[in-house]
Amino acid sequence: METASLSTRAFMEKGFTKPYLIAGPCSAETEEQVMATAAQIAAEGIKPDLFRAGIWKPRTRPGSFEGIGRPGLNWLKKVKEEYGWKTTTEVANTQHVFDALKAGVDVLWIGARTTVNPFSVQEIADALVGVDIPVLVKNPINPDLSLWIGSLERLKKAGITRLGVIHRGFSAFGKSIYRNTPRWELPIELIRQYPDLFIICDASHICGNRPGLWEVAQRAMDLNYDGIMIETHCNPDAAWSDAAQQVTGSGLKNILDRLVVRQEKSADPKFIDNIEDIRHQIDVIDNELLNILGERMKLADKIGMFKKMNNISILQSSRWNEIIQKSQEKGKALGLSEDFITKVLTAIHEESIEHQEKIMIES
Ligand code: PEP
Ligand code: MN
Repeated sequence: METASLSTRAFMEKGFTKPYLIAGPCSAETEEQVMATAAQIAAEGIKPDLFRAGIWKPRTRPGSFEGIGRPGLNWLKKVKEEYGWKTTTEVANTQHVFDALKAGVDVLWIGARTTVNPFSVQEIADALVGVDIPVLVKNPINPDLSLWIGSLERLKKAGITRLGVIHRGFSAFGKSIYRNTPRWELPIELIRQYPDLFIICDASHICGNRPGLWEVAQRAMDLNYDGIMIETHCNPDAAWSDAAQQVTGSGLKNILDRLVVRQEKSADPKFIDNIEDIRHQIDVIDNELLNILGERMKLADKIGMFKKMNNISILQSSRWNEIIQKSQEKGKALGLSEDFITKVLTAIHEESIEHQEKIMIES
């Protein structure tokens, strides 16, 4: 498999200090708003690795502000000239790519609604042939890891060598504390497959509000992400898009000050000794868990045989309910959440049914 070649923690040639920070407004609205936002960030002593602003805005419903378009690119240029910060914006088609490149935007990002569409991603990749600009790919709005990886592969094939991803959460129907459910297991799996991939957490679009930002950003740091994207606006409540989630310069400072950045590894021998000891204990328990699960499935085979001989169905829902309920009570006392117990037992139950089914159909 073609792993570790999707680039890179050397995403920015000169390296960076964690967290790699992308800050700036959801949308570029006016020159004054863009410049005032940059001034607020600078006044806090913050130097973002990238200053962001959406120039073309993919809005869910028509009639909302759909972006200022080309004139906004000059404002990004002005921020770069005045503050020396690199800039980034979202591109969704060939024209956007050409305009952004012409205006000297340093890094491009592909938005969540674009990543879902291979035609669009391919169009962007084709427009980038021969231009080795860094590109960040947001996760698709649906939790489809292959689609996310596929976008990276399309860009890589077009010759883009500096690739990274932005985790911005996934659409879900119904009420949730998140605007977009994080589904941390997806980026975790992506990083398992591509350990060197540069990864940013867009806490703003995951939360959809201000109070949740720090916690999501901290989770990203705890999972060893490279950085965060935080939408920042000089006057968030008056923003033309995503007003509820944007923070002021001082709001951003507050998040950064509280953020604990962790290292992946330590060279301290005492730490290494301790962690190896705990990991050894975990390995022993994992091993026991596997042995116990093996034993559990042998019993499933046995009961399957017995049911078959007596012509009894595999599933008896009353028995299954009883197991779930009892285990949840027991789990609670052990500090295990209901959700976790349900997931584990459902997986065990499915495997048990598989085993019994195999026995039922054997002649
Ligand atoms: C954005 O970053 O402003 C944006 C539109 O994000 P997403 O593609 O994640 O919705
Ligand atoms: Mn936004």
